[in-house]
Amino acid sequence: MISFLNNTQRNLWHSLDIDQAFKILETSERGLKSNQAEEKIKKHGLNTLPEEKPSGSFKILLNQLKSPLVYILLIAAIVSLVLGEYIDMGVILLAVIINTVVGFAQENKAERAVYLLRKMVHHTARVMRDGREIEINSQEVVPGDIIFLEAGDKIPADARLIQENDFQVNEAALTGESVPSSKKIEILAKGTSLADRENMVYMGTVVTRGRAQAVVCQTGLESELGKITLMIKETKEEQTPLQVKLTKFSRFLSVSVSAICVLILIIGILEGENFFEMFMVSIAVAVSAIPEGLLVAITAVLAIGMQKILKHKALVKKLVAAETLGSTTVICSDKTGTLTEGKMVVAEILTASSKTKNFSAITKEKDLIFQTAVLCNDAVIENPQDDLKKWRVIGSPTETALILGATQMGLNRSELNQQQPRLKEAPFSSETKIMATLNQIDQNNFKIYVKGASEKIFDMVSYVYVNNKKIKLTSVRLKSLKKEYEKLTQKGLRVLGLAYQESKKNVLNLDKIKKEQSLVFVGFIALKDPLRPEIKETINLCQQAGIKIVIVTGDHKLTTLAIAKEIGLKVKKENVLEGADLDNLTDQEFKKKVNKIIIYSRVEPRHKLRIVDAWQAQGDVVAMTGDGVNDAPALKSADIGISLGSGTEVTKETADIILLDDNFKTIVAAIKQGRVIFDNIKKVILYLISDGSSEVVLVIGSLLLKLPLPILAVQILWINLVADGLPSIAMTFEPAEKDVMQIKPQEHSKTILDRDMKILISIIATITNVILFVLFYVLFKQGLDIQYVRTMIFATLGLDSLFYVFSCKSLRYSIFQTNIFSNWYLIGGIGIGLVMLLLAIYAPFFQMILRTVVLDFKDWLVILGLGVFEIILIEIGKYIFILKKYKKQHHQIEC
Ligand code: ATP
Repeated sequence: MISFLNNTQRNLWHSLDIDQAFKILETSERGLKSNQAEEKIKKHGLNTLPEEKPSGSFKILLNQLKSPLVYILLIAAIVSLVLGEYIDMGVILLAVIINTVVGFAQENKAERAVYLLRKMVHHTARVMRDGREIEINSQEVVPGDIIFLEAGDKIPADARLIQENDFQVNEAALTGESVPSSKKIEILAKGTSLADRENMVYMGTVVTRGRAQAVVCQTGLESELGKITLMIKETKEEQTPLQVKLTKFSRFLSVSVSAICVLILIIGILEGENFFEMFMVSIAVAVSAIPEGLLVAITAVLAIGMQKILKHKALVKKLVAAETLGSTTVICSDKTGTLTEGKMVVAEILTASSKTKNFSAITKEKDLIFQTAVLCNDAVIENPQDDLKKWRVIGSPTETALILGATQMGLNRSELNQQQPRLKEAPFSSETKIMATLNQIDQNNFKIYVKGASEKIFDMVSYVYVNNKKIKLTSVRLKSLKKEYEKLTQKGLRVLGLAYQESKKNVLNLDKIKKEQSLVFVGFIALKDPLRPEIKETINLCQQAGIKIVIVTGDHKLTTLAIAKEIGLKVKKENVLEGADLDNLTDQEFKKKVNKIIIYSRVEPRHKLRIVDAWQAQGDVVAMTGDGVNDAPALKSADIGISLGSGTEVTKETADIILLDDNFKTIVAAIKQGRVIFDNIKKVILYLISDGSSEVVLVIGSLLLKLPLPILAVQILWINLVADGLPSIAMTFEPAEKDVMQIKPQEHSKTILDRDMKILISIIATITNVILFVLFYVLFKQGLDIQYVRTMIFATLGLDSLFYVFSCKSLRYSIFQTNIFSNWYLIGGIGIGLVMLLLAIYAPFFQMILRTVVLDFKDWLVILGLGVFEIILIEIGKYIFILKKYKKQHHQIEC
C-alpha cells in the first residue's frame, strides 16, 4: 500500500515494471472501482496543493495605514496633541479611522473577489473507473487511478506510463526544461534523475503531443510538485497598466499638492495668521486634494466588474483583462461552439456512387464510411448502456456527431472495436487536419482508416470504393468528387473525407501513405452545426459598438463563408484568406491586407499569432479565442486571450478569460461590462479629483487678499472624508449607460485624465471655487460673524459636492438626460452625506467640534440656490466643451 512506502520507495516508481506498480497501488488496467476510489480519497485526501492565499485581513488593514495620507494626518494629530488642541486631534483621528475602514472594506472585497474567481477554474481528468472511461474533477484523482492523457492536458498527478503513442510532455513547470521530452514505458534504472524518468509523468506538466495511459502513483502533497510547493505562497497580483499609471499619477499629485500646501502655510504665516491654524488648513487641503483612495477604488471597480462578468458566464482571471476588455476593437473568434452551437449532426453522406439523406438505405459503401468514422474516432461514451438520447459523450463535436450518426444507422461501436482492435493511431491535430488508425483484421491483415479535411484526404488517395469494389480514381471522377464537396461546403456544412487502406504490415506511416497516395476514397460525411440562436443579434450589437469581427477557423472557406453570411456579416470572397495563402504573404504585405480579411479558413494555430500581431501593429486591441494546445502563444500575445470552457487545460491556463459556455454572446457581454468598468473608473477619478480641488483656490485666494480663513481645517476634513466618502464609493457601482454599446471602443488612454475629464474637472473646480469665494467675500464684507460665514461656506461646499456628483455620472450626457436615480447606492450615499452635513451644523456636540453655528431657512435657500446655480453652470460648460463634440461624433456614427 502506498502509505507504507517510505520516501526512497516513492522515488522508485520508474524502476518498477507495470505489474509491480499495479500491485502496490491495488489496481489494474481496468482502473479502480468507485468505492475503492472513495476509500483512497479518505486515506490520501484530495489531489490538491496548498492554495495560494489572498492577503490576510490584518495585512490589508496594515496596508491602509501605510499611505502618505495617513502619515500626514498622524503628524497633524501629534502636533494637535502637543499644542493641546484635543478636539482637532479627535477629528483627525476620526478621519484616519474612516479612511482606514473604507480602504480596508474596498480592498478586502476586491482581494476576495479575485481570489474566488481564481478558485473557480476547475481542472478535469479522464480516468478509468469501474472499467469505464469517465471525466472527473482532477481533485478526485487518487493513487491507483488509470488516467488518459492527450495533447493539451495538464497532468493531474504523478503517474507511471502504461501505454503511449508518440507521447511528449513539456516539463518546464517542474524541471525548467522547456524542450518537450519524449516518453516511453520501459523500466529505468533506480538512480535515474527526475528529468530523465521517461516512463513517468508529473503533476502540473503539460502534454504537448500524442496520447498515453498511466497509473497514478502519487497525488497532492505527495507529488513532486506538491513537495516543492509545500511552502504556502502568497498571491502577488500584478498591477494592471492602469493601476501603474494611477500610482504614478497619485505620486505626482501628492508632490504638487504638498508643494501647494507648503505655499499656503508660508503665505499664511507671512500674513500673520495663527501658525497652528495655518498648519492645520494646509494639512486639510492636502488631505482633500490627494486622491489617496483612488487606487483602492479602481481595484474595487475592477473586482466588481469581474463579478458582473462572471454572471454572464465569463471568468476573468486577471484584473488587467477586465480593464482592457472595454477597449477591445477586434474579436477574432472560432466558429464551432462559439458562433455555432457546437452540436453537430450528420446531415448528408455521399459516397463515390450515391448521395443520400436517407441513412436507412444503407449500402456497403455507406457501411464502410460509418465504420471508418467510428473506428477512427476518439470520442468516449460514458454511459453506453443507457438510451442513445441520454448518452454523455466525451469528445469533440465532430467525433461525437459521427458516433451518434453511426449508432443511429445501427452500427455497434464496441462490437466493431472488438472485431478490429486499434493497434496504432495518428491523433487528429489542427495542423494535420486528419486522423488515422491502424486496426487489426486478423493475424496477418490490418486496415488503416483515415478521416479528415477532404482536400487533405484527396492528396492521399488514388483509388475509390465504388459498388463494393476498390477501383482506380480517375481524374474525371476526382474532379466530380471535388465539385460535390464544394457544393456541400457551400451549404455551410463541415465535410469530412473518409478513406481506408488494407495492409499486411502492422505499420502506420502517414508520410509514406501521402507519398504513395495509397488510400482508397470511400466518401464524405457532411455535418451540420446549428447557429447559436442569438448570434445575429449579437453580431449586430458588435457592429453598432464599432467592434470588428474576424472568424478564424480550421474549417473550409466555403463552409465558413456560408455561415458568416447567415449570421449577418457582410462578407465576400475577397474577404477570405486561407492559412496557406497567409503563409505566402510577408508580414508587410499581410499588415496592409489585414483590415479587409473577415474570414481566415484552414488556419493552423501558428497563423493566429500572425493575425494578432498584424491587428496590433495598427493599434487595435485584439481579443482572440482558442481551445487547442497550440493556441496558447496567440492567446498570450492577444490583448485579451479567451479560452473556451471546453478548451484544453493549457489554453485555459494561459487565457485572461475563460468562456464557461463557449458562447460568442458571452464575449460581447464581457466587453460591454468592460466598457462599464472603463466608464466607472473615469467617473470615480473625476469625482475624487473635482472634490479635492474645489477649495484650494478659495483658501489661497482668501489668504492673498488678507481675508481670514474661509473654512476651518476640521470642516474641510469633515466634508471630504465624512460627507463625501460614501458617494465616491457608490460611484464604483454605477450601472451601464444606455449607449454603452453604441459608441466606438474607447481609446486605451495614455494618461489617466483624458481631454474630457480634464475639461470637466476644470469646469467644476473653477465654478465651485469662484462661487464659494464670492459668497465668502460678500458675507465677510457685510461684517457678519466669522463663525456664521464659515458655516455658510462649509454648508455650501458640502452641498455642492453632493450635487455635482450627478454631473460626474456621465461624460456623454447632461444631468437632464441621465437617470439620476439609476444608482441607489449613490442616492443612499448622498442621503447619508446630507445627514452628516446637517449633524455637523445642528447637533450641539458636532457644532462644538466643527465650530459651526445654526443656519436658518433663508440661509438654506441661499445655499440651495447656489447649488442649483452651480449645477446649471457646470452643465452649460459640459455641454459647450464636451457634449457638443460628442453629439457630432454620435451623429457621424449613425450616418
Ligand atoms: P472551428 O473554428 O470551426 O472551431 P477549428 O479551428 O476548431 O474549427 P478544427 O477542429 O481544427 O477546426 O478542424 C479543421 C478541419 O479538420 C475540419 O474542417 C475537419 O475537416 C477536420 N476535422 C475536425 N475534427 C476532426 C477529427 N476529429 N478527425 C478528423 N478530422 C477532423
